[in-house]
Amino acid sequence: MRSMLIRPSLVFLISAVFARAAPPTPLADPSGIDKSRFISFSIPTSEVVAIRVKLVSLHHVNPPYSAGPFVPFTTFEGQDRWVGPPTQYVESVSSGTLFYASKLQCAPHYQDWSTVGLLHVTGSEIVPSSSYEVENLAANCAGNEGGCSAVSVPLQIATTRWGDVVSAFQLPTPPATQPDFTDIGAMVNKFKSAPGAPIKARAMLAGYGLRGLINITPDLGFGHISACVDAFKGLPYWYAGPAGNETIANVLQMLGAMNDDLAGGTTPLETFGAEPKIGVPTVATTANDIVAVGTIDFFQGYDVVASGTSTVTVDFCTGEVSLETVVSDGATTWTLVQSVSLNADILSLWGFVQVNGGAMLPGGWDYSTATGAVLNPGSDPAFAGEVESMFQIAPGSTAAATLSAGAVAGAVSSILQMIINYIKDQSIPYTPPVSCLGPKILNGSGQSCAGVNILCANRLAEMCTSINDLPNVSIAFKKCMKGRCGCGGSNHKRLEVACDFVGDCGVCPSYADGCNLPGGSRMSYCEDMRYGCTCANLIFHEMSHGCGTNDRKDGSAYDAYRIGTWFQEEYRDRFPGACPVGIAGP
Ligand SMILES: [Zn+2]
Repeated sequence: MRSMLIRPSLVFLISAVFARAAPPTPLADPSGIDKSRFISFSIPTSEVVAIRVKLVSLHHVNPPYSAGPFVPFTTFEGQDRWVGPPTQYVESVSSGTLFYASKLQCAPHYQDWSTVGLLHVTGSEIVPSSSYEVENLAANCAGNEGGCSAVSVPLQIATTRWGDVVSAFQLPTPPATQPDFTDIGAMVNKFKSAPGAPIKARAMLAGYGLRGLINITPDLGFGHISACVDAFKGLPYWYAGPAGNETIANVLQMLGAMNDDLAGGTTPLETFGAEPKIGVPTVATTANDIVAVGTIDFFQGYDVVASGTSTVTVDFCTGEVSLETVVSDGATTWTLVQSVSLNADILSLWGFVQVNGGAMLPGGWDYSTATGAVLNPGSDPAFAGEVESMFQIAPGSTAAATLSAGAVAGAVSSILQMIINYIKDQSIPYTPPVSCLGPKILNGSGQSCAGVNILCANRLAEMCTSINDLPNVSIAFKKCMKGRCGCGGSNHKRLEVACDFVGDCGVCPSYADGCNLPGGSRMSYCEDMRYGCTCANLIFHEMSHGCGTNDRKDGSAYDAYRIGTWFQEEYRDRFPGACPVGIAGP
């Protein structure tokens, strides 16, 4: 009898633990309608849970798009994402109807979701023609999500074909008949906030940025209709899909290889046409990412003919490195967005170029040490041409006019490499330089400086220790200059001085007395420097280009002329008699 009494309470206890251990399955959207860029469900419990979304199958389009290839995001299949905190939105300003939506994120988020109702979830991972599993994890899984068994039975949710917003929906068999005019009509109705129009979670298709993240807040804009029209024409879903999980260190290593590999074949130089120069970047670090923004000026001679910014984002959560470059010459604005990913030894830059806010042309390169940079065959035919024109503004010579896609990739990667070096330098505490090797002069074993009289050569190492006294520059810039000077304390490579690089810099000294070579860690030196101080001026001027200065000629903080002249005067002070008074720099 005693055991009979104990047993039911034990069963109750076990079942209670199990009830807490395994939360209920999320409930499907009662409308039964799938969406292109959202998945929808509700959470039937007031327990605190985290909602896990498994990426089961991503963008396997059947039947295929008629007007272009589709790229399945297979490398992300099997990965998990988590539903972020819900935010309340309105369906339209005129209706005022409220709903909740969340974005996917990499970290679990636990809360009581019972008051949220039907929740719509979007993100770069929610793409057309895909399937997902949605699970609830009990609160006691926190910190041990991978090993936790307190997980609900999954709810399967699919997404529709790209742009397929309303019935009839595409069957997974040919012919491809969707989306059709009914879809476009429904989109127009939503645009007009007409009664009966589909909800935002069905109608919102287009996003911003490389991965097409949807801005849910505004009323449905025309961009969503044009995305639907493109889909009707059979054009592929062109956003880049989920962010990658590549190792940042591996990506950076490959970028370095690509940079070095391409440097010999690139010609964006001071003496030819328009030359890109990268300004000293600003770097902001948050818990989620690092964002570095550098300015780019395209020079023709001493005139800036176009300028813009380059932004590098390193996402700690996904490991993704992405690059966005916007350049304008006043009449035309080019936007180049590329994400960087690494598969084995193939480094891929993939994204789009947009001209004056018009059509987004997808494209990119694959790079491996075996093949070099190769234009991705999935690139839009107009892509290479537009990117080339972006980096070939007002070509002033044959050299600039023959910039190839590979050379442009080199320029992009130079920018990326440089900004990333600033990012990496963030983790190194700054100390004033004490002992430096100085720039490396390539004067041995047949190198080009053999026999060239570089008057300041033996004093460069000492000159490098004065970097700390350079006024009005950032610590990040001083770190970079330390790296170029061989003082340590920086990820920027030591400067190498080559001589008489006619092919890159023109015949000395017809135009320039020296020039900064692609990648920023090499320069060409001309032999006509008659004094040690002007020699120092030239070398530190070019070295400063390798740390982001421009030829501003206005005495501003990051004017390469100001910095060269400052080192010239420093040289005169340190080595009296090395330079006649009144000598102007090059
Ligand atoms: Zn210069």
